[in-house]
Amino acid sequence: MISFEEAREIVFKNVKPLGKEKVFLKDALRRVLAEDIKAGHSIPPFTNSAMDGFAIKSSDTEKKIPIKLKIIGEEKAGEIFKKEIYKGEALQILTGAPLPRGADAVIPQEKVRIEDNYIVITGKVKKGENVRYAGEDIKEGEIVLEKGIQLNSAHIGLLAALGKIEIEVFIAPKVGILATGEELRELNEPLIPGSIRNSNTYALIAQIKSAGGIPLNCGKARDNSEEIKKIMEENLNNCDIFLTTGGISVGKYDYVREAYNLIGAEKRFWKIAQKPAMPLAFYTLKKGDRIKYLFGLPGNPGAVMISFEEYVRPLIYLLSGRKNYLPKEIEAHLLHDYKKKKGRLNFLRVKVFFKNGEYWITESGPQGSGFLKTLALAHGIALIPEDAEYIQAGTKVKVHLVEW
Ligand code: AMP
Ligand code: MG
Repeated sequence: MISFEEAREIVFKNVKPLGKEKVFLKDALRRVLAEDIKAGHSIPPFTNSAMDGFAIKSSDTEKKIPIKLKIIGEEKAGEIFKKEIYKGEALQILTGAPLPRGADAVIPQEKVRIEDNYIVITGKVKKGENVRYAGEDIKEGEIVLEKGIQLNSAHIGLLAALGKIEIEVFIAPKVGILATGEELRELNEPLIPGSIRNSNTYALIAQIKSAGGIPLNCGKARDNSEEIKKIMEENLNNCDIFLTTGGISVGKYDYVREAYNLIGAEKRFWKIAQKPAMPLAFYTLKKGDRIKYLFGLPGNPGAVMISFEEYVRPLIYLLSGRKNYLPKEIEAHLLHDYKKKKGRLNFLRVKVFFKNGEYWITESGPQGSGFLKTLALAHGIALIPEDAEYIQAGTKVKVHLVEW
């Protein structure tokens, strides 16, 4: 059995991004930038009002208060008021409208009294008040997003504001999924005695999507190495990563490793000193100039989801050219004592709390590798070290925050 660190080293070493392509911004969520993004213009592009109110010369309010200023017109967002504002004048202005020449501040509507064609100001207004200056958010020429960033909704908004219609991203990895087991039924099939629903495929499809990969559901296979092999061979050309679930342990009907041998894949490891997902298997297969990454995930949903987070998600990120590929890690204090056997790293599903400036964790419930509810309740996966046996409440451990 190898350690968690050794296994990760084997999976993550020498992984190269798949290549580049152009996509429309509307399709770019979770894609990874393959180029630095430079602002072609400033944001805001022009100095404008941050409030509905009146554009004035702040110097008008310096000497005498209250003061009356004459309203000389109105300017909505999207309009350009051509005249200059002189001493004693005010322009009614709406949020987002360009600040007129001569004005250097905006007094909000709520802070003035209107008398006929005049406003009455009763307090000093400072230069720049309620003014948004051209380029104060982003300067023309500035690098706003760097290559290797995975795009989220805020990045998409920013790129839209800069008028980027098409962007260069890394090619998203395609990930095949094959569930194995005679007992598995699809969601629309009746749950006959002895059968369970195939939940792994759906959890994995969702995890792959959330990582920015493209899932390819290859259905399910019975516990038969020829059948597993056939489905893999039919689909491997379309995949960068292939995941099987179940049939990887030492049970009499565990045929997945045999199927990997039949397709000529190279065994990189089988069994890791970890719990759950001890029997996790990893193979690679060279096809042309590309490497196919094959994971024999265990069958239990907890083992499947946790091994995905620790091994498969980072690999998807590496193949997608994402710079930060490892799980988001924090250190947190255990709220309760914890006992375990020595010799295996334990992944604990935990809830995470923030109290007095520090993170605390507590188990999200029973940790059996087949349990689904405590996965759904977890905020993170705590890593209880291999050599630990008894950990006292208050001890700090590493926690990987989950993004599933
Ligand atoms: P195995 O390693 O094939 O013996 O599977 C271990 C456990 O995981 C068994 O209880 C299986 O019924 C369960 N299991 C296997 N595949 C799935 C699946 N696709 N969805 C839900 N549970 C599964
Ligand atoms: Mg099975």
